[in-house]
Amino acid sequence: MAKATIDHRGPEFADLTARLLEGLRYLFKTKHDVFMYPASGSGAWEAAIANTLSPGDRVLLFEQGFFAQTWAKVASRFGIDVVNVEWNPRIGVRPEAVIRQLEQDATIKAVCIVHNETSTGVTTDIESIGRAMRDSGHPAMLFVDAVSSLAVTDLQHDAWSIDVTVSGSQKGMMLPPGLAVLAVGPRAMEAHEGAMLPRSYWDWDDQKRFNERGFFPYTPATNLMFGLEEALAMLAEEGLENVFARHALFGRVTRAAVEGWGLDVVSQNESEASQAATAVLVPKGHDADAVRALILDRFDMSLGTGLDPFRGQVFRVGHIGDLGPLQLIGTLAGVEMGLQLSGVISKAEGVAAAMEALIKDTAI
Ligand code: PLP
Repeated sequence: MAKATIDHRGPEFADLTARLLEGLRYLFKTKHDVFMYPASGSGAWEAAIANTLSPGDRVLLFEQGFFAQTWAKVASRFGIDVVNVEWNPRIGVRPEAVIRQLEQDATIKAVCIVHNETSTGVTTDIESIGRAMRDSGHPAMLFVDAVSSLAVTDLQHDAWSIDVTVSGSQKGMMLPPGLAVLAVGPRAMEAHEGAMLPRSYWDWDDQKRFNERGFFPYTPATNLMFGLEEALAMLAEEGLENVFARHALFGRVTRAAVEGWGLDVVSQNESEASQAATAVLVPKGHDADAVRALILDRFDMSLGTGLDPFRGQVFRVGHIGDLGPLQLIGTLAGVEMGLQLSGVISKAEGVAAAMEALIKDTAI
């Protein structure tokens, strides 16, 4: 990424674009359109909405957590009628719940689901939702936020009947923030033709026209694209399935530590616990942000803060991206010392349990 920025209208650049679009198709597991913008993941949310919907269209969202609710806010600001379904954020969205809503309302244009809700560390089974939606015959599109699941947890844009998948560079792709990526299926492209929301920066027609020649309608994030090429090479070298297995293992190892501390994670079901980040509940009477502040101060390690609806009640341990087993054990050691110093735990048995889990597991 520190290489000199090249001419984004020159032949060398066109070759780079073509390689990256192909690499993104491999990541999203799609043979259809993929796009990339100089933007964060929130830009990808906006691109999905602005390109496919018209003012007053209705979309379905569930109260999965902070990011699902922020996506709902983005849609509302575009004049979309958001059906926001009350949901227990400690479990993944169930296909039956989606179908129940769709059966009551034939006008819903899209169902927006966060694959891995980073605020809670709960993953939703997108494959089952995609299958149930197609079996139901309801015409709603399926939009999936894969910001913290792409290149972390298996996600199959085409095979799971997803219409738009959105993500960003700074998580599974191991890059700095600043690159928004999307996969767009044929039904979403068709919806795009009749969609009336105003769009300029995000317009897929402009992107497609330029991308076909290897270029972009405006200045792309060239140096992040250099980084993306390397990230794609690293992921391919490790093998995507091995990348998923490594993240799954790190999730299990982290939860072993949490159990060793005698604490709970937000995810109620082990099968839905995130491979990307673990949200740990601190017992009543303790402030999770005070624990985080102490760990930052004493050990120079920054943990994720609790986000609504778990503000002050959880801290989040990230185990995503370019991470090896010893970095994870070091991270958990920092958490354990912080928990002890804060008086949240009296027995320091988490790291030992994590190491035990790591030794026993043969995933890596
Ligand atoms: N969706 C999820 C699941 C996220 O975790 C995030 C950010 O962490 C976002 C969306 C928003 O992405 P960004 O902050 O890159 O705009």
